[in-house]
Amino acid sequence: MSEFVDTAVRGPQAYSLARKVIDAMEAASVWPTPLNYELWLHYIQAPESPLAVEMRRIFDSKLPFTDTVAEMLATEFLPRSRLSEEIRDAGAVLNRELAAVATAIDKAREVQVQYAETLSEAKEQFEEAAPLSPLSDLITTLARATRRIQRHTVVLERRLESSHTEVSKLRNHLEQVRRDAMTDALTNLANRKAFDEKLDTICADHDEHGGTVSLAIIDIDMFKRFNDTWGHQTGDQVLRYVASAISRIAQMPRVAARYGGEEFAIVFPGETASQVEHVLETLRSDIASRALRRRSTNDDLGVVTISAGVAHRHKNESPLQLMERADAALYVSKRAGRNRISSAQNILSETAA
Ligand code: GH3
Ligand code: MG
Ligand code: MG
Repeated sequence: MSEFVDTAVRGPQAYSLARKVIDAMEAASVWPTPLNYELWLHYIQAPESPLAVEMRRIFDSKLPFTDTVAEMLATEFLPRSRLSEEIRDAGAVLNRELAAVATAIDKAREVQVQYAETLSEAKEQFEEAAPLSPLSDLITTLARATRRIQRHTVVLERRLESSHTEVSKLRNHLEQVRRDAMTDALTNLANRKAFDEKLDTICADHDEHGGTVSLAIIDIDMFKRFNDTWGHQTGDQVLRYVASAISRIAQMPRVAARYGGEEFAIVFPGETASQVEHVLETLRSDIASRALRRRSTNDDLGVVTISAGVAHRHKNESPLQLMERADAALYVSKRAGRNRISSAQNILSETAA
């Protein structure tokens, strides 16, 4: 929450502000979910903030303000869940530092060994040339001091090695935590956070190198009714089934994720619009042609269908705008009767026609 908003919700006008926020959500016909509330609070209290500007743009464009849009806005504009990135970076920094220290110690040891050798050679030469010279004693003393330092360096090295082991363990642990934070536990697909990061990278790459990028949002049809009929656990099995069908078609360089409850997203870098639409159509028809059975009871669950919206990215289009267009196309599929794929391109040309 920005400082500006944070102060307002604890100030004398806090309740009247809260009422304004709720009224504004109602006027715009969005549900007063906690996330929507937070977004609209910013919208009302900080109307010039980048978030409010983006929201106004969405309202003006008459695109539906869906949960997906709300989540995208939150990811982009609300400063939350940055933690796991910071943890990941901390692990990498620690490792780099440790490697630098290890190199420095190695170097020091090498120099010491060379120095010790030089000293002992000097001593031999001296003893040959002038066996009774007091300088020979001096060199003996120096050599002894050098050996002491060498021993100390060995101790230091051992300590460094055990720190190294500890840091490696810590880093593996961080890596595991990070993987968990990026994966959806039910389906094992990437989660929304991971997907948003990948989508950002792919879009940046698209801007720099050209080519094509398409984004599909896939939603299970009438899934609430399915859950109501067969129970949530069976619903979860269907989610896993749809996820595995999606992951089969979404091999690298495609990236798939569970984007929310019964919603999935796939990004297709470097493919033509017709290739992408063909792949989605195959996915849709495969799922629609398969009668499902409940494993435990062998009950016939009937057929589950999916709808999808796909948008092909314009150069320099923000990931959020791309997502909005795919989401709007998904809406078109739903309104047209479900179990179908709609392309954002066709929506534009239809309205233009
Ligand atoms: P539509 O065709 O318009 O998409 O209808 P719908 O019923 O699929 O859509 P709606 O958004 O009304 O409901 C989504 C349902 O998805 C609600 C919830 O029961 C179900 N759902 C969301 N997440 C999960 C989950 O993790 N497990 C299960 N079993 N169901 C879930
Ligand atoms: Mg949905
Ligand atoms: Mg649905």
